[in-house]
Amino acid sequence: MDNRELVDRLLAGERRALARVLTRVEDGSEERLREIVALLHPHTGKAQMVGITGSPGVGKSTLTSALIGHWRSEGKTVAVLAVDPSSPFSGGALLGDRVRMQDHVMDAGVYVRSMASRGHLGGLSWATPQALLVLDAAGFDVVIVETVGVGQAEVEIASIADTTIVALAPGMGDAIQAAKAGILEVADVFCVNKADRDGADRTARELRDMQQLGHGDWLAPICKTVAATGVGIAELAEAVQEHASWLESSGARERRHVDRARLQVREIALGTIRRRFHEVEGGDLVDALSRRVAQRELDPYTAADQLLASLDT
Ligand code: GDP
Repeated sequence: MDNRELVDRLLAGERRALARVLTRVEDGSEERLREIVALLHPHTGKAQMVGITGSPGVGKSTLTSALIGHWRSEGKTVAVLAVDPSSPFSGGALLGDRVRMQDHVMDAGVYVRSMASRGHLGGLSWATPQALLVLDAAGFDVVIVETVGVGQAEVEIASIADTTIVALAPGMGDAIQAAKAGILEVADVFCVNKADRDGADRTARELRDMQQLGHGDWLAPICKTVAATGVGIAELAEAVQEHASWLESSGARERRHVDRARLQVREIALGTIRRRFHEVEGGDLVDALSRRVAQRELDPYTAADQLLASLDT
């Protein structure tokens, strides 16, 4: 089936078409990705993108499942992209392990997909933002992207999501660790999960103290939850909603979308330039020019000019 037909079926709400488009986005060639993105792009920008990040074991998937339940009760449809930057596996394979998501497998208003990250520098793969685009175009009201906290990925999530929830759990020195890893800055909403355990108040206090060191004009609220039983989930969802309203009224949503687009446009253009430099005349032009510069046949500025001129041919 060609991309256009597949995308038409996806837009018509066909789940199998959605799964196939996601697979093509993940495995696809540059050309395929280009065509799919062009077809989907006009249909995107409607979903509310929510990022959930935090260390392994803090309860991200339990929280995700609880939030799905909450949003479903409000009649919203929800898609989840669970990104595991450390996993070489992708597609539906991991779903069987995501026991907590099983609550929603029979619900047609919920779609859950796991994705490995073959990302650059331990970050998210290029396919991640494209996969989110696909879920957005498929018409879900809320798209959740869940990542394991491994550094760079959180920062990238924050550049994709409208609202980023940073989840922590008490007693793991987690607030301080998170501060060191630079995760606090990306939080739009904090969630201290496992509030049934000792130390949740202390973790919340530590967060509040560190926050006073100066944040922008949105001060991330600190929610306490027991994801396993649903305590505090409504308040967490409310905090996400408040942030969404703030994004809208302050103009920050628009700015974020432009910033996100800027990153993508630059990345695509730079990727194309890099490839072209290496494809010139079947050999590596950078290599050939560098050799000539080293041999003092060319100065580096002239070599750079020649490299750039090669793009026009
Ligand atoms: P993730 O690795 O961050 O996705 O964490 P999981 O959602 O897999 O949760 C890790 C463990 O913590 C599981 O055994 C959960 O049942 C448990 N858990 C999740 N939320 C809570 C909670 O609010 N309180 C307690 N006591 N345990 C929880």
